[in-house]
Amino acid sequence: MMSKKKKGSEESYYPEWVPEGGGDAFATSVLRGMKKTGNSPKKEAPVKKKLPDTGEFVEGILDNNKTLLAKAITLIESNSADHYEQGKEIIKRLKGNFGNSLRVGITGPPGAGKSTLIEELGLHLIKFGFKVAVLAVDPSSIITKGSILGDRTRMEKLSRENKCFIRPSPSGGTLGGVSRKSRETMLLCEAAGYDVILIETVGVGQSEITVRSMVDFFLLLLFPGGGDELQGIKRGVTEIADLVVINKADGDNKVIAEKARNDYSQAVKYLLPSTEGWEREVVTCSAVEKKGIDNIWDIISSFGNSVKKSGIFEKRRNEQSWLWTLSLIDDFLKGNFFNNSSVDQKLPDVKEKILKGEILPEEGAESLLKTFFSGAK
Ligand code: GDP
Repeated sequence: MMSKKKKGSEESYYPEWVPEGGGDAFATSVLRGMKKTGNSPKKEAPVKKKLPDTGEFVEGILDNNKTLLAKAITLIESNSADHYEQGKEIIKRLKGNFGNSLRVGITGPPGAGKSTLIEELGLHLIKFGFKVAVLAVDPSSIITKGSILGDRTRMEKLSRENKCFIRPSPSGGTLGGVSRKSRETMLLCEAAGYDVILIETVGVGQSEITVRSMVDFFLLLLFPGGGDELQGIKRGVTEIADLVVINKADGDNKVIAEKARNDYSQAVKYLLPSTEGWEREVVTCSAVEKKGIDNIWDIISSFGNSVKKSGIFEKRRNEQSWLWTLSLIDDFLKGNFFNNSSVDQKLPDVKEKILKGEILPEEGAESLLKTFFSGAK
C-alpha cells in the first residue's frame, strides 16, 4: 500500500485533487524562480485544506512559524494513528535542534498565583530579549475532564507578545500520555528557538514528579494561608523543588508571608537538595505588585550557570532521557496489555474475584498475564 504521507521535497508539489492513496505519480515538478502571475486561467478547486507535509512542518518550525508549530503540536496530541505517525516523523526530522532552552517547572496549589507569576516572569524574560514558551501539564483534565489550568482566560498580556508561545495542557488519556505529549511539545518549542520553557502543573498528585523529570529547575509556589501548615503541600514536593517561593507578599499578607518564609527556610534545611550541589532557597514575591520577579529570575539563571559549569546539567538531561525511554516502554507495554481483547474480556471476572476475596492478587495477575502472553483472542 502506498503511503498517504507526502514527501518533503522542495521541488515537488501535489495538486489538491490527489486521490486517497495517490502517491508520487501525482507530483508536479515546479521550476524554481517561477512565480504565479495571478491571472492563470485555471482556478484551483475549492477543496478542504490539507495538512502541510512533514517537510513544510519541519521548515516552518525551524523558522518559528507559530501556526505550523501549533499544528504540529496538534498532530502530536491527536489520537489518530496517521497524525501521531506524522508527529513522530516531525520530531525525528528535527533531532539536533532540541535541548537549547532552560526548562523550568512551576508547581503549586490552585490559587497560589501560578498563572499570575508566569505572566510576570514571562514578560520580564521577554524584556531581556528571551523567547518564552509556556506549557501546562494538568492531571485534573484527565480525571474530571475539567481543567484547573486551562479554563480561564489566562496570561492575556503575555499571550499578546510576539516572543511568547502559550499552549494549554493536552487533554485525555493517562498522565503518561499527557506527559509524553507535553515533552514532545517542549522539544518542538526548542526547535522553534524558545530560550526558556515554563511548564506549569498543579501541586496535586503525581504530576509534579512527572514534570520534575522533564525540567532542569523546579519551582514550588505557595501562598501564606494563615496557618503554619502550608496548604497541606506534601514534604515530597518540597524535596523535589530547587526554589520555594511564597507569593502574595503584599498588603496585609506581607507579615505572614515573611513568617512563612522563615518557617519554611528552617524546615528545608533538613531536606536533601533536589539538585546536587544546589542549596534550595525560600523567597517571597508579589506577582500582582511585580515584586521579587527579578530576584526569582536571578536565582534561576544563576542555577543554570552553576549546573552547566559543574556538569550536573548535562548529566541530569542524559539521565532524564534514559528515564524517559523506560517510561515510553512502560506506557507502550501497559497500553498493549489493557487494550488486548482477551485481557479486556477476562478482567472484570478476575476483578470481581479479587474484590470478593476469592483469589489472591498474585493469582489474579498471573491469570491475566497468562491470557495476554498466550495470545488468545
Ligand atoms: P493559580 O491557580 O495558581 O494559577 O493562581 P492565579 O494566578 O489564577 O491566582 C489566583 C488568585 O490570586 C487570583 O485572584 C490572583 O489575582 C491572585 N493573586 C495572584 N498573585 C497574587 C499576588 O501576588 N498578590 C495577591 N494579593 N493576589 C495574587
